[in-house]
Amino acid sequence: MAREGILIVVSGFSGAGKGTIMKELTGRYEQYALSVSATTRTARPGEEEGKDYFFKSQEEFEQMISNGALIEYACYVGNYYGTPRAYVEEMLLQGKDVVLEIEIQGARKIREQFPEAVLLFVTTKDAQVLKERLMKRGTESREVIEQRLLRAVQESEGIEEYDYLVVNDELDACVEQIHSIIEGEHRRIRYNMKLVSKVREELRSFAKGE
Ligand code: 5GP
Repeated sequence: MAREGILIVVSGFSGAGKGTIMKELTGRYEQYALSVSATTRTARPGEEEGKDYFFKSQEEFEQMISNGALIEYACYVGNYYGTPRAYVEEMLLQGKDVVLEIEIQGARKIREQFPEAVLLFVTTKDAQVLKERLMKRGTESREVIEQRLLRAVQESEGIEEYDYLVVNDELDACVEQIHSIIEGEHRRIRYNMKLVSKVREELRSFAKGE
C-alpha cells in the first residue's frame, strides 16, 4: 500500500551543517525528495544551477512570486530565497517525503499552509562550533558572517515553534535521528487510515461470519 508523503522542514543556524545532512539523508534513503530552492544570492564556488539552487535575478524572482510559483519565500541577509511549488506538490502526490531546507520565516509560512508538516531544527552543540564552521567555510566575507551570526541570534528565539531539535555533533548519528523521527511520523494514525479501514472492513466481515 503506497504511503502518503510527509512534508518536512529543516531549519538551523547557518553553518550547522544542514546541507551536508540533507544530502546524506536523501542519498541514503529513496523515500526522500529534496526540494531545490530559487534564490537571488550568487552561487558559491562548486554550487550548481538546479542542484544546489535555481539562481535567479531579482526580476525573475519577483516574477515567480507574482505567478504564484513559490509556496513560500523570504528575505535572508539581503537575498530572496523561495520554494518552487510544482516540485513539492508533485513529489507529495507520488508519496515521497519532501524535505525543505529553509529558514524560519519560510518555516512559519509552511506551518500555516500545511499544519501537518514536521518542523525540525538543527543546531551544533554550542555556538563556538558554529562560528568556527562559518569562518572555515571561507565562502563568505567577514561582514556576511557577522550578519549570519546576528540572524542566528534571532532564529534561536524561534526554536520553540519547531517540533524537534537535532544536534549535529556526529553526521551519521544525526542523519539516523532525523530518519527515525520521520519513520515515527509515518506511524501516526492519520497517515494509516487506508490500512485501518481495510482491517476494520475485514473484521466486520469475519464477525458476520462471511
Ligand atoms: P545559504 O545562503 O546559506 O544557502 O542559505 C541561507 C538561508 O536560507 C539558510 O537558512 C537556508 O535554509 C535558507 N533557505 C534556502 N532556501 C530557502 C527557501 O526556499 N526558502 C526560505 N524561506 N529559506 C531558504
